[in-house]
Amino acid sequence: MTDEKPSNAPIIWWVRRDLRLADNPALAAAVAAGVPVIPVFIFDTLDEDLGAAPRFRLGLGLAHLAKELERRGARLILRRGPAQEVLTQLITETGAGAVHWTRAYDPQAIARDTAIKEQLKGQGIAAKSFGGHLLFEPWTVETKTGGMYRVYSPYWKSVRDRDVDGLIAAPARIPAPAQWPASDELDSWQLAAAMRRGADVVAQYCRVGEDAAQARLAEFLDTRVADYKQDRDFPAVDATSGLSENLAWGEISPRRMWHHGLEARRAGKSGAEHFLKEIVWREFAYHLMFHTPHILTRNWRPEWESFRWSEQDDDRVDAWRRGQTGYNFVDAAMRELYVTGKMHNRARMIVASFLTKHMLTHWRIGQQWFEECLVDWDPASNAMGWQWVAGSGPDASPFFRIFNPDGQLDKFDPKGGYQSAWIAEGQANPPQTALDFYRATPLSWGLSPQDRRASPFVDLKEGRARALEAYGQRELPE
Ligand code: FAD
Repeated sequence: MTDEKPSNAPIIWWVRRDLRLADNPALAAAVAAGVPVIPVFIFDTLDEDLGAAPRFRLGLGLAHLAKELERRGARLILRRGPAQEVLTQLITETGAGAVHWTRAYDPQAIARDTAIKEQLKGQGIAAKSFGGHLLFEPWTVETKTGGMYRVYSPYWKSVRDRDVDGLIAAPARIPAPAQWPASDELDSWQLAAAMRRGADVVAQYCRVGEDAAQARLAEFLDTRVADYKQDRDFPAVDATSGLSENLAWGEISPRRMWHHGLEARRAGKSGAEHFLKEIVWREFAYHLMFHTPHILTRNWRPEWESFRWSEQDDDRVDAWRRGQTGYNFVDAAMRELYVTGKMHNRARMIVASFLTKHMLTHWRIGQQWFEECLVDWDPASNAMGWQWVAGSGPDASPFFRIFNPDGQLDKFDPKGGYQSAWIAEGQANPPQTALDFYRATPLSWGLSPQDRRASPFVDLKEGRARALEAYGQRELPE
Protein backbone atom coordinates (compact mmCIF):
# COMPACT_ATOMS: atom_id res chain seq x y z
CA MET A 1 0.00 0.00 0.00
CA THR A 2 1.37 3.42 -0.88
CA ASP A 3 -0.21 6.76 -0.09
CA GLU A 4 -0.36 9.44 -2.75
CA LYS A 5 1.85 12.32 -1.54
CA PRO A 6 0.81 15.94 -2.09
CA SER A 7 2.94 17.73 -4.66
CA ASN A 8 4.39 20.03 -2.00
CA ALA A 9 5.41 17.16 0.30
CA PRO A 10 8.77 17.95 1.93
CA ILE A 11 12.03 16.35 0.89
CA ILE A 12 14.32 14.93 3.55
CA TRP A 13 17.97 15.76 2.89
CA TRP A 14 19.67 12.90 4.67
CA VAL A 15 22.98 14.48 5.68
CA ARG A 16 25.90 12.09 5.91
CA ARG A 17 29.57 12.72 5.19
CA ASP A 18 28.56 15.78 3.17
CA LEU A 19 28.49 18.58 5.72
CA ARG A 20 28.34 21.38 3.16
CA LEU A 21 25.84 23.54 1.33
CA ALA A 22 27.82 24.31 -1.85
CA ASP A 23 28.58 21.64 -4.47
CA ASN A 24 26.03 19.37 -2.93
CA PRO A 25 23.93 17.79 -5.69
CA ALA A 26 21.63 16.03 -3.21
CA LEU A 27 20.77 19.29 -1.46
CA ALA A 28 20.68 21.33 -4.68
CA ALA A 29 18.14 18.95 -6.24
CA ALA A 30 16.01 19.12 -3.09
CA VAL A 31 16.02 22.92 -3.07
CA ALA A 32 15.36 23.07 -6.82
CA ALA A 33 12.19 21.00 -6.32
CA GLY A 34 10.66 24.06 -4.65
CA VAL A 35 9.21 22.15 -1.70
CA PRO A 36 10.21 22.33 1.97
CA VAL A 37 13.53 20.65 2.74
CA ILE A 38 14.22 18.92 6.04
CA PRO A 39 17.94 18.35 6.70
CA VAL A 40 18.39 15.31 8.93
CA PHE A 41 21.51 13.72 10.35
CA ILE A 42 21.02 10.22 11.70
CA PHE A 43 23.60 8.81 14.08
CA ASP A 44 23.13 5.37 12.60
CA THR A 45 24.22 2.00 13.93
CA LEU A 46 27.24 2.17 11.62
CA ASP A 47 28.29 5.44 13.27
CA GLU A 48 28.35 3.69 16.64
CA ASP A 49 31.58 2.05 15.41
CA LEU A 50 33.36 5.36 14.76
CA GLY A 51 36.68 5.83 16.52
CA ALA A 52 37.07 8.49 19.21
CA ALA A 53 38.54 11.23 17.01
CA PRO A 54 36.26 10.82 13.97
CA ARG A 55 33.24 10.75 16.28
CA PHE A 56 34.42 13.89 18.01
CA ARG A 57 35.20 15.63 14.70
CA LEU A 58 31.77 14.69 13.37
CA GLY A 59 30.28 16.53 16.36
CA LEU A 60 32.24 19.69 15.51
CA GLY A 61 31.11 19.47 11.89
CA LEU A 62 27.45 18.96 12.80
CA ALA A 63 27.42 21.90 15.20
CA HIS A 64 28.87 24.08 12.48
CA LEU A 65 26.47 22.90 9.79
CA ALA A 66 23.49 23.46 12.11
CA LYS A 67 24.48 27.13 12.43
CA GLU A 68 24.94 27.51 8.68
CA LEU A 69 21.51 26.02 8.09
CA GLU A 70 19.92 28.37 10.60
CA ARG A 71 21.37 31.31 8.69
CA ARG A 72 19.42 30.06 5.69
CA GLY A 73 16.14 29.60 7.48
CA ALA A 74 16.52 25.87 8.06
CA ARG A 75 17.44 23.52 10.89
CA LEU A 76 19.49 20.38 11.29
CA ILE A 77 17.32 17.64 12.76
CA LEU A 78 19.30 15.07 14.73
CA ARG A 79 18.12 11.55 15.39
CA ARG A 80 19.86 8.44 16.64
CA GLY A 81 19.13 4.83 15.70
CA PRO A 82 19.07 2.49 12.70
CA ALA A 83 18.74 4.75 9.65
CA GLN A 84 15.96 2.72 8.08
CA GLU A 85 13.75 2.94 11.17
CA VAL A 86 14.50 6.60 11.76
CA LEU A 87 13.70 7.55 8.17
CA THR A 88 10.43 5.62 8.23
CA GLN A 89 9.46 7.37 11.44
CA LEU A 90 10.40 10.79 10.07
CA ILE A 91 8.43 10.22 6.88
CA THR A 92 5.37 9.43 8.98
CA GLU A 93 5.91 12.52 11.12
CA THR A 94 6.56 14.97 8.29
CA GLY A 95 4.66 13.54 5.32
CA ALA A 96 7.90 13.71 3.29
CA GLY A 97 7.63 12.41 -0.25
CA ALA A 98 11.33 11.98 -1.02
CA VAL A 99 14.69 11.36 0.58
CA HIS A 100 17.94 12.61 -0.97
CA TRP A 101 21.42 11.62 0.04
CA THR A 102 25.04 11.67 -1.11
CA ARG A 103 26.45 8.24 -1.89
CA ALA A 104 28.93 6.44 0.33
CA TYR A 105 31.07 3.62 -1.02
CA ASP A 106 32.11 1.34 1.81
CA PRO A 107 30.43 -2.06 1.71
CA GLN A 108 28.42 -1.63 4.90
CA ALA A 109 27.00 1.71 3.83
CA ILE A 110 26.22 0.35 0.37
CA ALA A 111 24.30 -2.59 1.86
CA ARG A 112 22.37 -0.31 4.22
CA ASP A 113 21.58 2.27 1.54
CA THR A 114 20.49 -0.34 -0.98
CA ALA A 115 18.05 -1.85 1.49
CA ILE A 116 16.72 1.58 2.43
CA LYS A 117 16.25 2.59 -1.19
CA GLU A 118 14.29 -0.54 -1.91
CA GLN A 119 12.10 -0.17 1.12
CA LEU A 120 11.36 3.51 0.52
CA LYS A 121 10.56 2.97 -3.12
CA GLY A 122 8.19 0.20 -2.09
CA GLN A 123 6.41 2.79 0.06
CA GLY A 124 6.11 5.23 -2.83
CA ILE A 125 8.86 7.50 -1.50
CA ALA A 126 11.30 8.86 -4.08
CA ALA A 127 14.66 7.71 -2.71
CA LYS A 128 17.47 9.36 -4.66
CA SER A 129 21.19 9.02 -4.14
CA PHE A 130 23.64 11.50 -5.65
CA GLY A 131 27.36 11.74 -6.30
CA GLY A 132 29.42 14.46 -4.69
CA HIS A 133 31.89 12.67 -2.43
CA LEU A 134 34.09 11.79 -5.40
CA LEU A 135 35.11 13.22 -8.75
CA PHE A 136 34.41 9.96 -10.56
CA GLU A 137 31.92 7.29 -9.61
CA PRO A 138 34.03 4.16 -9.11
CA TRP A 139 32.10 2.09 -11.65
CA THR A 140 32.56 4.67 -14.39
CA VAL A 141 36.33 4.26 -14.59
CA GLU A 142 37.24 1.09 -16.47
CA THR A 143 40.27 -0.33 -18.20
CA LYS A 144 40.12 -0.92 -21.94
CA THR A 145 39.08 -4.50 -21.27
CA GLY A 146 36.32 -3.41 -18.94
CA GLY A 147 37.87 -4.21 -15.56
CA MET A 148 38.96 -2.16 -12.57
CA TYR A 149 42.31 -0.43 -12.28
CA ARG A 150 44.82 -2.05 -9.95
CA VAL A 151 47.67 0.36 -10.53
CA TYR A 152 47.59 4.10 -9.90
CA SER A 153 49.45 5.49 -12.96
CA PRO A 154 47.12 4.11 -15.62
CA TYR A 155 44.17 5.09 -13.42
CA TRP A 156 45.49 8.64 -13.31
CA LYS A 157 46.04 8.67 -17.08
CA SER A 158 42.51 7.49 -17.70
CA VAL A 159 40.87 10.22 -15.60
CA ARG A 160 43.14 13.24 -15.78
CA ASP A 161 41.42 14.78 -18.83
CA ARG A 162 37.90 13.76 -17.95
CA ASP A 163 35.20 16.33 -17.51
CA VAL A 164 34.26 16.95 -13.93
CA ASP A 165 30.87 18.47 -13.07
CA GLY A 166 30.93 22.19 -12.35
CA LEU A 167 30.54 23.91 -9.00
CA ILE A 168 27.14 24.53 -7.45
CA ALA A 169 26.47 27.63 -5.35
CA ALA A 170 25.15 27.16 -1.83
CA PRO A 171 21.43 27.92 -1.68
CA ALA A 172 20.73 31.38 -0.24
CA ARG A 173 17.56 30.09 1.47
CA ILE A 174 16.34 26.61 2.18
CA PRO A 175 12.54 26.36 2.16
CA ALA A 176 11.31 25.37 5.62
CA PRO A 177 8.41 23.05 6.44
CA ALA A 178 5.34 24.48 8.21
CA GLN A 179 6.41 22.55 11.27
CA TRP A 180 9.83 21.17 12.15
CA PRO A 181 10.05 17.63 13.53
CA ALA A 182 11.66 17.22 16.94
CA SER A 183 15.43 16.92 17.14
CA ASP A 184 17.85 15.47 19.65
CA GLU A 185 20.26 17.89 21.33
CA LEU A 186 23.74 17.42 19.87
CA ASP A 187 25.28 17.66 23.36
CA SER A 188 23.21 14.71 24.51
CA TRP A 189 25.08 12.50 22.04
CA GLN A 190 28.33 13.10 23.92
CA LEU A 191 30.38 12.69 20.78
CA ALA A 192 33.53 13.97 22.48
CA ALA A 193 33.31 11.64 25.49
CA ALA A 194 35.71 9.00 24.15
CA MET A 195 38.38 11.68 23.69
CA ARG A 196 38.67 12.05 27.45
CA ARG A 197 41.18 14.87 28.07
CA GLY A 198 42.03 15.16 24.39
CA ALA A 199 38.92 16.93 23.05
CA ASP A 200 39.90 20.51 23.93
CA VAL A 201 43.45 20.01 22.73
CA VAL A 202 42.60 18.42 19.39
CA ALA A 203 39.84 21.00 18.77
CA GLN A 204 42.50 23.73 18.67
CA TYR A 205 44.05 22.07 15.65
CA CYS A 206 40.85 21.42 13.71
CA ARG A 207 39.70 23.49 10.78
CA VAL A 208 35.93 23.17 10.85
CA GLY A 209 33.36 24.03 8.23
CA GLU A 210 32.90 24.93 4.65
CA ASP A 211 34.01 28.59 4.79
CA ALA A 212 37.24 27.75 6.58
CA ALA A 213 37.97 24.95 4.12
CA GLN A 214 37.36 27.16 1.10
CA ALA A 215 39.52 29.93 2.57
CA ARG A 216 42.34 27.44 3.16
CA LEU A 217 42.06 26.14 -0.41
CA ALA A 218 42.36 29.69 -1.75
CA GLU A 219 45.32 30.46 0.49
CA PHE A 220 47.03 27.20 -0.41
CA LEU A 221 46.63 27.79 -4.13
CA ASP A 222 47.71 31.44 -3.86
CA THR A 223 50.77 31.01 -1.73
CA ARG A 224 51.85 27.40 -1.34
CA VAL A 225 51.07 25.34 -4.38
CA ALA A 226 54.05 26.63 -6.34
CA ASP A 227 56.41 24.88 -3.92
CA TYR A 228 54.10 21.94 -3.22
CA LYS A 229 56.04 19.36 -5.20
CA GLN A 230 59.39 20.00 -3.54
CA ASP A 231 58.15 20.85 -0.03
CA ARG A 232 55.32 18.39 0.48
CA ASP A 233 57.59 15.74 1.97
CA PHE A 234 58.96 17.97 4.71
CA PRO A 235 56.73 17.62 7.76
CA ALA A 236 58.02 20.77 9.45
CA VAL A 237 56.86 22.87 6.51
CA ASP A 238 53.22 23.92 6.10
CA ALA A 239 53.38 22.95 2.45
CA THR A 240 50.28 20.84 1.82
CA SER A 241 46.64 21.83 1.65
CA GLY A 242 45.70 20.29 4.99
CA LEU A 243 42.22 19.72 3.56
CA SER A 244 41.92 15.98 4.16
CA GLU A 245 39.96 16.66 7.35
CA ASN A 246 37.40 18.73 5.46
CA LEU A 247 37.23 16.29 2.57
CA ALA A 248 36.65 13.43 4.99
CA TRP A 249 33.52 15.12 6.36
CA GLY A 250 32.43 16.61 3.07
CA GLU A 251 33.04 20.18 4.21
CA ILE A 252 34.69 20.80 0.87
CA SER A 253 33.97 18.98 -2.35
CA PRO A 254 36.70 17.25 -4.31
CA ARG A 255 35.33 18.91 -7.43
CA ARG A 256 36.00 22.36 -5.92
CA MET A 257 39.58 21.30 -5.20
CA TRP A 258 39.86 19.90 -8.69
CA HIS A 259 38.50 22.93 -10.56
CA HIS A 260 40.55 25.39 -8.53
CA GLY A 261 43.59 23.15 -8.96
CA LEU A 262 43.02 23.15 -12.73
CA GLU A 263 42.84 26.93 -12.67
CA ALA A 264 46.15 27.08 -10.81
CA ARG A 265 47.67 24.76 -13.40
CA ARG A 266 46.38 26.94 -16.23
CA ALA A 267 47.89 29.94 -14.47
CA GLY A 268 51.22 28.15 -14.74
CA LYS A 269 51.64 27.43 -11.02
CA SER A 270 54.12 24.62 -10.71
CA GLY A 271 52.97 22.09 -8.16
CA ALA A 272 49.34 22.33 -9.28
CA GLU A 273 49.66 19.21 -11.44
CA HIS A 274 51.07 17.31 -8.50
CA PHE A 275 48.24 18.51 -6.28
CA LEU A 276 45.70 17.20 -8.81
CA LYS A 277 47.51 13.88 -8.81
CA GLU A 278 47.20 13.63 -5.04
CA ILE A 279 43.48 14.31 -5.20
CA VAL A 280 43.29 11.42 -7.62
CA TRP A 281 45.06 9.12 -5.12
CA ARG A 282 41.97 9.55 -3.00
CA GLU A 283 39.78 8.66 -5.97
CA PHE A 284 41.93 5.61 -6.59
CA ALA A 285 41.49 4.52 -2.97
CA TYR A 286 37.70 4.67 -3.42
CA HIS A 287 37.95 2.83 -6.72
CA LEU A 288 39.81 0.03 -4.93
CA MET A 289 37.44 -0.07 -1.96
CA PHE A 290 34.41 -0.20 -4.22
CA HIS A 291 35.69 -2.97 -6.46
CA THR A 292 37.67 -4.93 -3.86
CA PRO A 293 36.10 -4.15 -0.48
CA HIS A 294 38.24 -6.77 1.25
CA ILE A 295 41.00 -4.13 1.19
CA LEU A 296 39.41 -2.84 4.41
CA THR A 297 39.96 -5.98 6.42
CA ARG A 298 42.21 -8.49 4.67
CA ASN A 299 45.47 -8.48 2.74
CA TRP A 300 44.51 -7.19 -0.68
CA ARG A 301 46.91 -9.69 -2.25
CA PRO A 302 45.70 -13.08 -1.05
CA GLU A 303 49.22 -14.53 -1.10
CA TRP A 304 50.02 -12.25 1.84
CA GLU A 305 47.58 -14.12 4.05
CA SER A 306 50.40 -16.54 4.90
CA PHE A 307 52.78 -13.79 5.99
CA ARG A 308 53.84 -13.97 9.64
CA TRP A 309 52.54 -10.63 10.91
CA SER A 310 52.41 -10.51 14.67
CA GLU A 311 48.88 -9.85 15.88
CA GLN A 312 50.00 -9.48 19.47
CA ASP A 313 48.94 -6.17 20.87
CA ASP A 314 51.68 -5.88 23.49
CA ASP A 315 53.73 -3.24 25.32
CA ARG A 316 55.81 -2.56 22.25
CA VAL A 317 52.72 -1.73 20.24
CA ASP A 318 51.61 0.55 23.07
CA ALA A 319 55.01 2.24 22.97
CA TRP A 320 54.47 2.83 19.24
CA ARG A 321 51.01 4.26 19.90
CA ARG A 322 52.31 6.53 22.65
CA GLY A 323 55.26 7.94 20.76
CA GLN A 324 57.78 6.06 22.93
CA THR A 325 59.73 3.95 20.43
CA GLY A 326 62.90 5.99 20.97
CA TYR A 327 63.05 7.00 17.30
CA ASN A 328 62.40 10.68 16.80
CA PHE A 329 60.59 10.56 13.48
CA VAL A 330 58.23 7.82 14.64
CA ASP A 331 57.60 9.37 18.03
CA ALA A 332 57.13 12.91 16.73
CA ALA A 333 54.60 11.59 14.25
CA MET A 334 52.64 9.50 16.76
CA ARG A 335 52.45 12.50 19.09
CA GLU A 336 51.38 14.78 16.25
CA LEU A 337 48.59 12.30 15.59
CA TYR A 338 47.45 12.28 19.19
CA VAL A 339 47.52 16.05 19.55
CA THR A 340 46.15 17.20 16.19
CA GLY A 341 44.19 14.21 14.93
CA LYS A 342 46.30 14.39 11.77
CA MET A 343 49.71 13.29 10.65
CA HIS A 344 51.90 14.42 7.80
CA ASN A 345 51.82 12.01 4.84
CA ARG A 346 55.53 11.17 4.97
CA ALA A 347 55.24 10.56 8.68
CA ARG A 348 52.29 8.22 8.08
CA MET A 349 54.49 6.18 5.77
CA ILE A 350 57.32 6.07 8.28
CA VAL A 351 55.27 5.01 11.30
CA ALA A 352 53.46 2.44 9.18
CA SER A 353 56.72 1.03 7.89
CA PHE A 354 58.18 0.91 11.40
CA LEU A 355 55.17 -1.00 12.74
CA THR A 356 54.78 -3.45 9.89
CA LYS A 357 58.45 -4.01 9.10
CA HIS A 358 60.76 -3.25 12.02
CA MET A 359 58.13 -4.53 14.44
CA LEU A 360 56.59 -7.07 12.04
CA THR A 361 53.18 -6.19 13.45
CA HIS A 362 50.03 -6.62 11.41
CA TRP A 363 49.03 -3.51 9.49
CA ARG A 364 45.47 -3.94 10.81
CA ILE A 365 46.62 -2.93 14.29
CA GLY A 366 48.03 0.30 12.88
CA GLN A 367 45.02 0.86 10.67
CA GLN A 368 42.76 0.58 13.72
CA TRP A 369 44.81 3.04 15.77
CA PHE A 370 44.61 5.57 12.93
CA GLU A 371 40.89 4.95 12.77
CA GLU A 372 40.68 5.78 16.46
CA CYS A 373 42.84 8.93 16.31
CA LEU A 374 42.46 10.62 12.91
CA VAL A 375 40.04 13.51 12.47
CA ASP A 376 40.54 12.97 8.72
CA TRP A 377 39.84 9.26 9.02
CA ASP A 378 38.76 7.93 5.67
CA PRO A 379 38.15 4.19 5.32
CA ALA A 380 39.45 3.98 1.75
CA SER A 381 42.59 6.11 2.05
CA ASN A 382 43.49 4.60 5.42
CA ALA A 383 43.23 1.01 4.21
CA MET A 384 45.07 1.75 0.98
CA GLY A 385 47.78 3.68 2.83
CA TRP A 386 48.43 0.88 5.30
CA GLN A 387 48.46 -1.86 2.71
CA TRP A 388 50.58 0.25 0.39
CA VAL A 389 53.27 0.61 3.02
CA ALA A 390 52.96 -2.96 4.29
CA GLY A 391 53.41 -4.33 0.78
CA SER A 392 50.20 -6.35 0.76
CA GLY A 393 48.20 -3.83 -1.22
CA PRO A 394 47.72 -2.91 -4.85
CA ASP A 395 50.50 -0.96 -6.50
CA ALA A 396 52.26 -1.23 -3.16
CA SER A 397 55.67 -0.16 -2.07
CA PRO A 398 57.68 -3.41 -2.17
CA PHE A 399 58.10 -5.03 1.22
CA PHE A 400 61.86 -4.86 0.97
CA ARG A 401 61.70 -1.05 0.84
CA ILE A 402 62.03 -0.43 4.54
CA PHE A 403 62.15 3.17 5.70
CA ASN A 404 64.99 3.91 8.06
CA PRO A 405 63.39 6.47 10.41
CA ASP A 406 66.73 8.07 11.25
CA GLY A 407 67.81 8.31 7.62
CA GLN A 408 64.41 9.83 6.83
CA LEU A 409 64.99 12.46 9.51
CA ASP A 410 68.26 13.51 7.93
CA LYS A 411 66.54 13.82 4.60
CA PHE A 412 63.19 15.30 5.48
CA ASP A 413 63.75 17.08 8.79
CA PRO A 414 67.27 18.38 8.29
CA LYS A 415 66.82 21.34 10.65
CA GLY A 416 65.04 19.24 13.29
CA GLY A 417 61.92 21.42 13.26
CA TYR A 418 59.52 18.47 13.25
CA GLN A 419 61.26 16.65 16.08
CA SER A 420 61.46 19.68 18.32
CA ALA A 421 57.84 20.59 17.61
CA TRP A 422 56.66 17.29 19.06
CA ILE A 423 59.27 15.85 21.40
CA ALA A 424 59.58 17.73 24.69
CA GLU A 425 62.10 15.52 26.46
CA GLY A 426 65.52 17.12 26.58
CA GLN A 427 64.31 20.60 25.63
CA ALA A 428 64.66 23.40 28.18
CA ASN A 429 61.65 25.23 26.74
CA PRO A 430 59.55 22.85 24.71
CA PRO A 431 57.04 24.47 22.35
CA GLN A 432 53.33 24.33 23.06
CA THR A 433 52.82 21.60 20.46
CA ALA A 434 55.13 19.25 22.36
CA LEU A 435 53.52 20.15 25.69
CA ASP A 436 50.04 19.66 24.28
CA PHE A 437 50.83 15.97 24.03
CA TYR A 438 50.86 15.77 27.82
CA ARG A 439 47.61 17.70 28.07
CA ALA A 440 45.93 15.35 25.59
CA THR A 441 47.13 11.91 26.66
CA PRO A 442 45.28 9.96 29.35
CA LEU A 443 46.73 10.30 32.85
CA SER A 444 46.89 6.50 32.97
CA TRP A 445 49.74 6.63 30.42
CA GLY A 446 51.78 8.33 33.15
CA LEU A 447 53.80 10.53 30.77
CA SER A 448 55.59 13.76 31.65
CA PRO A 449 57.85 16.15 29.68
CA GLN A 450 60.44 15.62 32.40
CA ASP A 451 60.68 11.90 31.59
CA ARG A 452 63.90 10.53 30.24
CA ARG A 453 63.67 9.95 26.53
CA ALA A 454 62.56 6.38 25.76
CA SER A 455 65.27 4.00 24.58
CA PRO A 456 64.71 2.13 21.34
CA PHE A 457 63.39 -1.41 21.79
CA VAL A 458 64.17 -2.38 18.21
CA ASP A 459 67.61 -2.05 16.70
CA LEU A 460 67.11 -0.62 13.22
CA LYS A 461 69.60 -2.93 11.57
CA GLU A 462 68.33 -6.05 13.32
CA GLY A 463 64.71 -5.08 12.71
CA ARG A 464 65.39 -4.59 9.05
CA ALA A 465 67.21 -7.92 8.78
CA ARG A 466 64.37 -9.71 10.60
CA ALA A 467 61.81 -8.17 8.28
CA LEU A 468 63.75 -9.14 5.19
CA GLU A 469 64.16 -12.66 6.48
CA ALA A 470 60.44 -12.99 7.19
CA TYR A 471 59.76 -11.64 3.74
CA GLY A 472 62.17 -14.06 2.16
CA GLN A 473 60.55 -17.01 3.90
CA ARG A 474 57.10 -16.40 2.57
CA GLU A 475 56.06 -17.46 -0.83
CA LEU A 476 56.77 -14.64 -3.19
CA PRO A 477 53.88 -13.22 -5.16
CA GLU A 478 54.05 -13.37 -8.92
P1 FAD B 1 47.60 17.24 0.29
O1 FAD B 1 49.03 16.90 0.06
O2 FAD B 1 47.24 18.67 0.31
O3 FAD B 1 46.78 16.46 -0.81
C1 FAD B 1 45.47 16.88 -1.22
C2 FAD B 1 44.48 15.76 -1.00
O4 FAD B 1 44.84 14.64 -1.78
C3 FAD B 1 44.42 15.25 0.43
O5 FAD B 1 43.63 16.06 1.26
C4 FAD B 1 43.88 13.85 0.23
O6 FAD B 1 42.48 13.85 0.10
C5 FAD B 1 44.49 13.43 -1.10
N1 FAD B 1 45.69 12.64 -0.84
C6 FAD B 1 46.96 13.08 -0.70
N2 FAD B 1 47.80 12.03 -0.51
C7 FAD B 1 47.02 10.92 -0.50
C8 FAD B 1 47.28 9.54 -0.35
N3 FAD B 1 48.52 9.06 -0.16
N4 FAD B 1 46.25 8.67 -0.38
C9 FAD B 1 44.99 9.10 -0.59
N5 FAD B 1 44.68 10.42 -0.76
C10 FAD B 1 45.68 11.30 -0.70
N6 FAD B 1 44.23 10.21 4.09
C11 FAD B 1 43.02 10.51 4.58
O7 FAD B 1 42.37 11.46 4.11
N7 FAD B 1 42.49 9.75 5.58
C12 FAD B 1 43.13 8.68 6.13
O8 FAD B 1 42.58 8.01 7.00
C13 FAD B 1 44.44 8.40 5.65
N8 FAD B 1 45.17 7.38 6.20
C14 FAD B 1 46.43 7.13 5.73
C15 FAD B 1 47.17 6.08 6.29
C16 FAD B 1 48.45 5.79 5.85
C17 FAD B 1 49.24 4.66 6.46
C18 FAD B 1 49.01 6.56 4.80
C19 FAD B 1 50.39 6.27 4.30
C20 FAD B 1 48.28 7.59 4.22
C21 FAD B 1 47.00 7.89 4.67
N9 FAD B 1 46.23 8.95 4.12
C22 FAD B 1 44.97 9.21 4.60
C23 FAD B 1 46.72 9.71 2.96
C24 FAD B 1 47.50 11.00 3.24
O9 FAD B 1 48.46 10.81 4.23
C25 FAD B 1 46.60 12.18 3.65
O10 FAD B 1 45.52 12.28 2.76
C26 FAD B 1 47.38 13.49 3.63
O11 FAD B 1 48.40 13.45 4.58
C27 FAD B 1 46.45 14.63 3.90
O12 FAD B 1 47.13 15.85 4.00
P2 FAD B 1 46.72 17.05 3.05
O13 FAD B 1 45.25 17.23 3.07
O14 FAD B 1 47.55 18.21 3.47
O15 FAD B 1 47.16 16.50 1.65
